Amino acid sequence: MTAFWTEADFDDHELVHVVRDAKSGLTAIIALHSTHLGPGAGGTRFWHYADPADAMRDALRLSRGMSYKNAMAGLPMGGGKAVILADKDKTKSPELLAAFADAVDALGGRYVTAEDVGISEADMAAVAQRTQHVSGLPVEGEGAAGGDPGPFTALGIFLGIKAAVKHKLGKDSVAGVHVSVQGTGSVGGGVARLLAKDGARLTLSDIHEDRAAALAAELGAETAAPDAVMSIACDVFSPNALGAVLDDEGIARLDCQIVAGGANNQLKRPEHGPMLAQRGILYAPDYVINAGGIISVTLEYLCRRDNAPCDINEVRKRIALIPGRLEQIWRQSDETGVSPDQVADRMAQELIGR
Ligand code: NAD
Repeated sequence: MTAFWTEADFDDHELVHVVRDAKSGLTAIIALHSTHLGPGAGGTRFWHYADPADAMRDALRLSRGMSYKNAMAGLPMGGGKAVILADKDKTKSPELLAAFADAVDALGGRYVTAEDVGISEADMAAVAQRTQHVSGLPVEGEGAAGGDPGPFTALGIFLGIKAAVKHKLGKDSVAGVHVSVQGTGSVGGGVARLLAKDGARLTLSDIHEDRAAALAAELGAETAAPDAVMSIACDVFSPNALGAVLDDEGIARLDCQIVAGGANNQLKRPEHGPMLAQRGILYAPDYVINAGGIISVTLEYLCRRDNAPCDINEVRKRIALIPGRLEQIWRQSDETGVSPDQVADRMAQELIGR
């Protein structure tokens, strides 16, 4: 067996905690990549892994991603991630969630959890019964931070697209700019609505084609088949569905000047960032442009923890900083010839003292 600290994805993680509770059947990994800026924050994934080594890889890789994302969002949080290794049937019981909550609590606030794939709002509410180190809980009333992060993520992406259009095309507005949107769910749908309001020309695509068609009818947009959306001639391709769409084949198909969207982990491998740059396509690093949701969720957590009032305007103010951060990355990339994804990684590493 290979030791996990020799794994390619091990990046001097501060703590990798394996939790086993035989009574409830819980097996989980909690990885803290960095607490340099604050408690390691990141969601809990509930997933069946055919090979447990993949669970370790996910925990290591995703917790590092959270360090970078939180740092670049200017949040006083480090990076962490939990993975619960589900059985084949993905059996989830109150006892299993309780054992997981106790494991989070035992870390005394060094790790702050939230929802991720396979964990619902109700699951997190159950976890929050036993530990206060939970963010992303449902909030009541308007004007409060927190709640569904989708609209906040969409707002940050919209502002980021505007900045990219200014940087690459020299235009102050997205009016008449053609944006091809992949995925019209919570994030992609929100981005499309904001762009439509500002007069962008839109092509929408979703594997649920009726969803894309309904939104297109509402916004006066066109639609494209899911397998065609990446090769449409447009100004901006905005991936808001799956990760890893920017691979050899995907990049070769692109007929755009800008890639800017909210999907996590858009680059399949590290070399795909430079490959985009070589094709003259401006890339908005995903974890920088899609930070609106984490900003909202984190501010809600900090307000609750500190028993302080939570103002949605503070969330908006911080999301409004995303375009400036992107501009800084692109400027440095232009000056040094290093691709934007790598510039962003270096900036994030510096911020977390690496
Ligand atoms: P969602 O489930 O609401 O929407 C995703 C949409 O993509 C769905 O409508 C789905 O049918 C569609 N889709 C899936 N595969 C597709 C394909 N091959 N082609 C076209 N459409 C496809 O999810 P979401 O919350 O909008 O998240 C979208 C992406 O953004 C994900 O990668 C997510 O990890 C990332 N993200 C989301 C948030 C957030 O606040 N929700 C924050 C950061 C990052």
